[in-house]
Amino acid sequence: MIGIAIDGPSGAGKSTIAKALAKEFGYIYVDTGAIYRTVGLYMYRNGISTEDTEGIVNNLSAVKVELKYVDGEQRMFLLGEDVSDLIRTPLIAKYASVVSAVPKVREFLFDMQRSLAKENNVIMDGRDIGTVILPDADVKIFLTASAEARAERRVAQLAEKGEVVGFDEILASIKERDERDSGRDVAPLKPADDAITLDSSDLTLEESIAAAKNIVNEKLLKNS
Ligand code: C5P
Repeated sequence: MIGIAIDGPSGAGKSTIAKALAKEFGYIYVDTGAIYRTVGLYMYRNGISTEDTEGIVNNLSAVKVELKYVDGEQRMFLLGEDVSDLIRTPLIAKYASVVSAVPKVREFLFDMQRSLAKENNVIMDGRDIGTVILPDADVKIFLTASAEARAERRVAQLAEKGEVVGFDEILASIKERDERDSGRDVAPLKPADDAITLDSSDLTLEESIAAAKNIVNEKLLKNS
């Protein structure tokens, strides 16, 4: 099986680029952030505070997360309910970031991610795919962009949906999440030693996809 890992901070364009590559190469796309978001949603719904690490750990065994493909698209199920759309809020992003810093949560979700890659050719995106989940991935890309570039894109995305949110507010939340994701002890956000870093700050989406495609093609050719 072929495994392609794309790691990087939020808003760098990982999911868009990974989806485009998955289509191009015919692999399945696995968005691992959605798995952490689903666990975060469970904790939020059950009134567990983001400060309450013990509560998060104690409640884990009740969390039933499933990842399924419906019409070729990844959907997340929590205790049988499709929560794929409900997990896409800033509050649940914060919960995801908090629960994902708890080692027991990462352990709990490890096998699920590993087995997907064992059974399928995958493009998996996240924070620790190249370092922890698929250390032997055939290709590892660390996709990054400046916090400012990421905030600008986010503001534009929200504006498209008719939501007006200030640049400064978005920038602050991006920086806060970066710090939490990079500063944690367990599986911190960092490039694997053998990852190729792609900085998309000054690239259009099309250019980023083309650059990522080149990296994959070159690597797979070299390995074959
Ligand atoms: O990628 P996304 O923004 O949906 O991820 C939500 C949060 O889940 C991230 O901020 C990060 O804290 C966490 N995460 C993680 N490891 C992954 C994927 C996501 O810790 N592999």
